[in-house]
Amino acid sequence: MRFHIITLFPNMFDSYLNESILARAKENKLIDFSFYNPRDYVVPTKSQKKNDKPYLRVDDKPYGGGPGMVIQALPILKAVEACMKKIKKGKTKIIFFSPTGKKLDTEYAKKVSKKYTDIILISGRYEGIDARVKKILKAEDISIGDYVLTGGELPSMIVIDTISRQLKGVLGDISSLEESRISSSEMYTRPEVLEYKGKKYRVPKVLTSGNHKKIDEWRAGKA
Ligand code: SAH
Repeated sequence: MRFHIITLFPNMFDSYLNESILARAKENKLIDFSFYNPRDYVVPTKSQKKNDKPYLRVDDKPYGGGPGMVIQALPILKAVEACMKKIKKGKTKIIFFSPTGKKLDTEYAKKVSKKYTDIILISGRYEGIDARVKKILKAEDISIGDYVLTGGELPSMIVIDTISRQLKGVLGDISSLEESRISSSEMYTRPEVLEYKGKKYRVPKVLTSGNHKKIDEWRAGKA
């Protein structure tokens, strides 16, 4: 699975994607990332061309008024074009983000992980992206929850994370997937008796009983 990330802030992704399970998955060539910054695709105006280092803007005021700025259509469309050129063949899905989009869940991650080889994630910022982009690209909006964030970078990483762990080999042991076992929101590890500030905290007895039927029942109750 190749993730193509369109963002004005590629550095935001560095630490998250380069650690732990996702870093290992990349090393094992199960997933890959590439970045496209819309700022690199701004066409300078004639007067800007005369300047050595022109400030190339990607945003402008919203039509109809109101606070904030809107990301312009062309830099995003050009970045997507560059991305498509690199993909050539493969089944590609384009995802936009919005707090009012279709709510992300495991079902969705599973479906996408099976159906596609390339996913283009378009992170908005400020008041969002000119709405014509979404129409032109016929893409769908995904929401990661009922709250408003400052940008689509965290949502992109969340989508990458949840899709990646559905891919064979990424979790190492495929039985780690909650959907294929009874998973509990209460997990314990050593020590069996935890002493903290003069008090003792024990692991529930059933978990050390060795009775797997009972353990499953207990976990189902906590799931
Ligand atoms: N004015 C917009 C909100 C813009 S928030 C509106 O009313 O819809 C700026 C960007 O952050 C969005 O373009 C989107 O990319 C991202 N974003 C914010 N909250 C999000 C959420 N809950 N889920 C997914 N993306 C979100």
